[in-house]
Amino acid sequence: MPIDHTQPYDDSNIFARILRGELPNKTVLETEHSLAFHDINPLAPIHVLVIPKGAYVSWDDFSARASDAELADFSRAIGEVARQVGASAQGYRLLANAGKRAGQEVPHLHVHVFGGQPLGPMLAR
Ligand code: AMP
Repeated sequence: MPIDHTQPYDDSNIFARILRGELPNKTVLETEHSLAFHDINPLAPIHVLVIPKGAYVSWDDFSARASDAELADFSRAIGEVARQVGASAQGYRLLANAGKRAGQEVPHLHVHVFGGQPLGPMLAR
C-alpha cells in the first residue's frame, strides 16, 4: 500500500527493523551512515536498495534534514554499490519513489539500483 511521504517517520517500518537487526538482510555494503542490501523481490538481475541509517521518510525529508556527512556518505554509497555489483560498467538506473503517486511502499528513504539487463524506457506511457 503506497504511503503518504509527508507523514512523520514511523520506526516500525521494515527498513527500520532491518537497521535495528530485527529482520535479516543480504548486505552489499555498510558505511557509517548508509546500508545497501539486495531487494527481497528483485525486478532485474541486479536490484539493490540503498538506505540512510537515519530516520528519513523520503528524499524530501533527507535533503531537508540530513547532515552534510550523511548526504555525502549516502551519495558515495550509491556509487560504490553500483560499482561493487557490476552495474556501473554495463549501465544502470537509480530510482527513489516518494509518496503515494510514485508508489512508495516503505516509509524509509531508499534508492533502488537496477542493472544487469537492458532497462527499457524510463516510464511506461
Ligand atoms: P518502494 O515501492 O519504492 O517503496 O520499494 C520498496 C521495495 O522494498 C520493494 O522493491 C520491495 O521488494 C522491497 N522490500 C520490502 N521488504 C523487503 C525486505 N525485507 N528486504 C529487502 N527488500 C524489501
